[in-house]
Parts: sequence; structure tokens; C-alpha cells
Amino acid sequence: MRIHDTLTRRMETLEPLEPGHVRLYTCGPTVYDFAHIGNFRTYVWEDVLRRTLRHLGLRVTQVMNITDVEDKIIAKAVASGLRIGDVTEPFVQAFFEDLATLRIEAAEHYPRATEHIREMIDLASRLRANGHTYESQGSLYFRIASFPQYGRLSHLDRREIRVGARVDSDEYAKEDARDFVLWKAHREGEPFWESPFGRGRPGWHLECSAMSMKYLGETFDLHTGGVDNIFPHHENEIAQSEAATGRPFVKHWMHAAHLMADGEKMAKSKGNFHTLRDLLARGHDPRAIRFLLLSTHYRSPLNFTAEALGQAAAELQRLDDFTARLDREPAGEGRDDALDARVAAAAEEFRSSVAADLNVSGALAAVFRIVREGHSAMDRGELPRESREGLRLALRRADGVLSVLEAEREVLDEEVEALIARRTEARRAKDWAEADRIRRDLLDRGIVLEDTPQGVRWKRAVGGASGSS
Ligand code: AMP
Ligand code: ZN
Repeated sequence: MRIHDTLTRRMETLEPLEPGHVRLYTCGPTVYDFAHIGNFRTYVWEDVLRRTLRHLGLRVTQVMNITDVEDKIIAKAVASGLRIGDVTEPFVQAFFEDLATLRIEAAEHYPRATEHIREMIDLASRLRANGHTYESQGSLYFRIASFPQYGRLSHLDRREIRVGARVDSDEYAKEDARDFVLWKAHREGEPFWESPFGRGRPGWHLECSAMSMKYLGETFDLHTGGVDNIFPHHENEIAQSEAATGRPFVKHWMHAAHLMADGEKMAKSKGNFHTLRDLLARGHDPRAIRFLLLSTHYRSPLNFTAEALGQAAAELQRLDDFTARLDREPAGEGRDDALDARVAAAAEEFRSSVAADLNVSGALAAVFRIVREGHSAMDRGELPRESREGLRLALRRADGVLSVLEAEREVLDEEVEALIARRTEARRAKDWAEADRIRRDLLDRGIVLEDTPQGVRWKRAVGGASGSS
């Protein structure tokens, strides 16, 4: 797969350190409130990335952190007299619900900051032992001057970094405006942990370095986020990780442009945001929201408007109408080789588009090519059964990446679909032993096949969901 790497600002080939296995870290939410759909643009894009890697036959280990200790959380807890866990828990649950609503595949790990304080203290201790830190008024800071490569990711020079550095109200006494806090001194009334540098709590940047390296190793393949994460967050992650280990932290970085509203980045602080729940309450279809969020290339800003959402819903309707028509119209026997070849070419176009830095416009064009092929064959009254199954399979495989088709279509996972297709192929070749073996294999997975004059039907032995393939 080719990707645009923020580090080199060029297209690079993603070659995993371990062949066939991509280790991916995606910065997650701070759980003091509901995430807004700007955040979900980033999470949906990362989901499309993850699904694309799998579509291309790669295994993915993805980690997304949950930041459950942070200034805004503490402020809320202090104001309401709650413990921070009581503030965060409902939003952690809401976040997982929202991920499921938007059909975002689960990552392999969702580590919480409060459960990894030990790892963060260890990392800060290594940095202290290596001479990269200083203490000031009870807090521990990273000294940027000790890491000359600082700024490589954001391509900022020293002066720009100095000007751009955020002055955090918690960072009382830094030697240099660019320095950032690793461990914040305890303040009365706030939660704290004991550490070799005194009572306190971890800084935000430290969390991501400690948790990514714990689950993915000291060097891993790919780290992503929104463009606002590049500086200072990701720059600081690189500095503290590489200064501690002496090794490269991450091979490739990818960043998504923002979801905009009223000409500005959608953000809580600007008040121009919608939560997913707001939109659902107003009757919008979550599939249309997902479709809108993924249909613009991730490196281009996307304007959120009611009109754009309406357009996404209309395109989705075209896809739904097509799959409904495929189910409805009778099909003749046999196959149409020329049609099959055109569908195969479109499926290949889909694959090569997503493999080219997630070119979703190209991928969607390929999907709609498949739809047009199907419609015109049905208009001619010539869509033989086997070609129809090929069309369905091509659409489902594409939907393994996009995940916008109707829910029923999702029940079969790709592996099962591939097996059904192979069985059809075996039967065509009169290889009955192979066809039987596949049927038994599917049965082991709880999938019961039934050959009917209308084609292969399947149902789940347990759970009752069913459909036709
Ligand atoms: P935050 O909770 O602000 O740390 O953001 C969580 C994730 O959402 C980060 O990867 C941000 O880059 C991303 N994000 C925040 N606002 C937007 C936006 N308007 N559009 C796209 N991504 C965003
Ligand atoms: Zn992060």
C-alpha cells in the first residue's frame, strides 16, 4: 500500500516491520464529554485505513488510547464533587456506542491512561536517567534542547516552535517555552499518584508514548491522528520516545484534515459542533453520516452541511435500491463471461484505488461502475445467476472497507463469503469433494448452506440471522 507520510511529505510504500502485520496507533478521545462528528471524521478515516489494510490481506494490531485523566476531566470532577472515574465512565461507554453506531471496527486494545500510570512513570524515569528532563516547582519537564531532531515531523524551525508553543496554565516554570511537562505536580483537591518525582499526574503526551510502546513495541509501523495532533502532540511523542529508547519510534505518520463547519475547524471550544447523538435525534441515518465522513479524501478538509449530508443519504439510497433490485429480480441460469470480466475489472479498480493512499473517490467510482453494470444487465433482462453472485461478492468485498451497505449484508464476514464463492467455483468444476469440505467447514463456523433453485441460501445455525448469497 502507498501512503502519504507526514514525516517525509511524500508518498511512501508501507512495508510493515513484521511482514504481513501492521502495528497501528491511533490517538483516541479525552473522555470529559461526548465526541463530536469532527472527531469521528478522524476515527472513521482511521477505520477505513484499518479495513483497507485488511482488504489487502494484512493483519492489523491497532491501539487507541482513552485519555481518562486530564485538566478538563479534573475540572469537571472538582466542580461536581465526583471522582474522575465517575466523570469519565459514562463518556467511555458513550464513545464505544458511537463507534458501533458508525460501524467502526474494534481496535485490538483500548488502554486507559489511569491504568498505565506505572508505564508512564517508568518512561519518565528513563528520560530523567538519560538527562532529558529537569524538575521545577514539583513538575518534571522534558528539555527540548536535549533532542536536536525536534521539529522533524511538523517541519517547523526553532523560532516557529517557540512562537507556536502553547502556554499551558499548568506549566508554571519552564526553562524554554517549547519544553513540555511529563509529570505535573499535585495540587490540592486533585487526584494524584506517587512517583519518584513526587506526587502528581502524567502529562498528556507521555500517555501516548507509554501506551503505544507497551502494546506495539518500541518501534512500530504507523501512527495517525488529525492534523492538529502533529504539533505539539506527535512531535513530543517522538521526542520523549526516541530520547528514552535511542531507537526510531514510528516508521510512518499519517494525518487527516479537519471536518469544518461555518468555515472553521469543528471544535467544542468554538461551539460549531454536532455530536453523533444530535444528528441521530434529528432523524439522520448513521450510515449516511459515515458515508459523508469517508467520501472526501482524508487529506482534504470536509465541510459539514445539511446539504452534504442529504447528498450522502441520496447516494446511499442508490446503493440500497440496487441491492434490493438484485434480490428481487429473477435471474437466468449460467453466467455472462463478458459481464464477469467487467465486474472483476471494477473490483480491481476498487482495490488499487484504496491501496493508493485511500483514494476513496476512485474506490466509489468503481463501486458505482459495478452498480451500473448490474442495472444495465437487469434492464436487458440478462443477469444470469452466477454473474449476479459475482456482483454481490464484489460489492460486499468493497463494503468490507466502506461498511455503508444495509446491515443484513454485513452478517457474513469476508472469510465466509470467500468460502461460499470457492464452493460455488468447486461445484462449477464438479469438484464435489471440495464443495462438501467447504460446506462442512462453514458448518463448523455456524453457517448452514442451502442450495435452492434461487441460488445458495445461508443461515446461522445459532442466532437465527439469515440471507442469501
Ligand atoms: P481531541 O479529543 O481534541 O484530542 O481529538 C481527538 C481526535 O479527533 C484527534 O485525532 C483530533 O485530531 C481529531 N479531531 C478533533 N477535531 C477534529 C475535526 N474538526 N476534524 C477532524 N478531526 C478532528
Ligand atoms: Zn496521542
